[in-house]
Amino acid sequence: MSVKCPACGFDSPDGALFCDFCKEPFKKKAPAKVSDSEAVQELKKLPPEELIKRVPEELLKELAKEEQLPKLPPYFRALSWAFFGLWVVLGMILAALALSRYKARQVPAPGQDIPLGQPQIR
Ligand SMILES: [Zn+2]
Repeated sequence: MSVKCPACGFDSPDGALFCDFCKEPFKKKAPAKVSDSEAVQELKKLPPEELIKRVPEELLKELAKEEQLPKLPPYFRALSWAFFGLWVVLGMILAALALSRYKARQVPAPGQDIPLGQPQIR
């Protein structure tokens, strides 16, 4: 079986990509996957600083997907928020405590005029 050229009608052997006579391509080659291309393989060898200059952002994203970057566990986000919340609550408690003590010191005894900022000694 042979392939007939759509441009010139020449019979080329089956599986040929181009016409033997006029070099007309028979089939449009499927676009190569980004990861398969030699250009990408070359870029991967470059140091990161050099890579950033050359590679468009979309391609970098594509590469990042391919590298299968380690993903954080699903509970990590919740855990970090809980940790953050704990410190916020702790900070508020400490602040309230410090403030209440400070205010207690500021309260002057009846009939006494205590200058501000001076702790009251009983
Ligand atoms: Zn041809």
